[in-house]
Amino acid sequence: MRDTVVSAEKMAEQREYADLAGRLLYERLGRNPKACTVTFGCQQNEADTELLRGILSEMGFLFTEKAQDADLIIFNTCAIREHAEMRAFGNVGQASHIKRANPDALLCFCGCMAQEQSACAKIKNSFPYVDILFGTHALYRFPQLLYKRLSTGKRVFDTDGEGVIVEGIEPVRKAPPNAWLSIMFGCNNFCSYCIVPFVRGRERSRDPERIVDEAKKLVSEGYKDITLLGQNVNSYGNDLGAGIDFSDLLKRINDIEGDFRVRFMTSHPKDASKKLFDTMASCEKVCKSIHLPVQSGSDRILGLMNRKYGIEQYTELVRYARSVMPEITLTSDVIVGFPGETEEDFIKTLDLINEVRFDSLFTFIYSKRERTKAALMEDLTPADEKQRRFDRLLEVQNRISREINENYVGKTFKVLIDGESEDENYTVKGRTEGFKLVHIKGSGEMMGKYKNIEIERASTWALFGR
Ligand code: SAM
Ligand code: SF4
Repeated sequence: MRDTVVSAEKMAEQREYADLAGRLLYERLGRNPKACTVTFGCQQNEADTELLRGILSEMGFLFTEKAQDADLIIFNTCAIREHAEMRAFGNVGQASHIKRANPDALLCFCGCMAQEQSACAKIKNSFPYVDILFGTHALYRFPQLLYKRLSTGKRVFDTDGEGVIVEGIEPVRKAPPNAWLSIMFGCNNFCSYCIVPFVRGRERSRDPERIVDEAKKLVSEGYKDITLLGQNVNSYGNDLGAGIDFSDLLKRINDIEGDFRVRFMTSHPKDASKKLFDTMASCEKVCKSIHLPVQSGSDRILGLMNRKYGIEQYTELVRYARSVMPEITLTSDVIVGFPGETEEDFIKTLDLINEVRFDSLFTFIYSKRERTKAALMEDLTPADEKQRRFDRLLEVQNRISREINENYVGKTFKVLIDGESEDENYTVKGRTEGFKLVHIKGSGEMMGKYKNIEIERASTWALFGR
């Protein structure tokens, strides 16, 4: 077993702490404690929260959506942009009311922000009512931290450790049909703007057997849309030395018997290969859909971003993917206002967007992050100019998304129904294989099932059908 996997002894030790802490809480409350988890940020954080809920469940916790009803509140935070951090601090600030109403409630702060020195210091000094703070590498030690808090009455901070892999905890997931399945953690790429490698450690892949077993279990439990998660799934297996790469893993999951589909995120273009697209094309359960973040249309900016590919390589990948999967849906991430981005660089991004015609885009204004290389770069573009570029980009993309979606009208697609529609004229909603959101006039009986839906109408962000 690789030393990144937390040893069986250490996991057993945590189970003992879980037992002790669970008992202490039960004695204090005279009932099972209730926990409320609040998650910010990406799918990886969602998956981490599910693992944390697995730990809490083993300790006897029940769950509530209402923080004011909870005995334990956990904020799992995101550090990717300043805005995400402000939101997390805002929520922790609000929680002071809950602590005032129920001083025994325990407040925990974890995730990527907890792994940052400055955020940790701010929690220590400005939010004295936060009971436990723990970083991304300490998640599996939560039972020990909770026991320490309960038995000493002192605040607990744990940001120690290097990247680990935690096995043997059953995540508490949302009900079927959609499931996250982490296949790897951390990142080695050090894109010059990005905090992720600093707060999540180096790349480490889970054992393929564990992943395949977990996928089989999910299918047997009725999950029908499984998303494999990693910061750069295309480098899956590089650290295993077991002769398995991401395409091989996809094939193994595709071979699992059952009525389900599998998708994945995120793919770094520098590591996306023709083999990957050929595998996607030949595996019937693998969704013909890919999120391939390009970040900028300017080779000069991509160089400054340390992305290690150029626009020619990127567009060639897209051409190849579309040649083997003409129906593929393509989404991407773009950052505007990176330090030194000129109007000319930005126009190149617009040109790329017009050329590739993504189904949709996640667009961000560059946010300076401590410790990253880009934080040291001269950034002379005024904020209002960055905002203008952002608005122009959105305008172009919204038109393209609407045009692409309008092409769906009158056609029928297989849609997995996964929730109630927020649109008052529709009852349920679901996703196509290409991850298009569809609002549907249907009934609750359709929930969790695949249905053939005829698309009657389209907007920039969704399809509408029956
Ligand atoms: N690992 C994935 C990748 O490389 O594409 C996704 C990482 S991140 C969670 C998602 C997106 O956030 C990135 O693709 C990037 O567009 C954006 N992002 C990351 N750091 C940022 C920053 N400092 N400012 C603005 N956007 C940022
Ligand atoms: Fe951040 Fe780049 Fe790693 Fe994605 S690949 S997590 S953007 S450093």
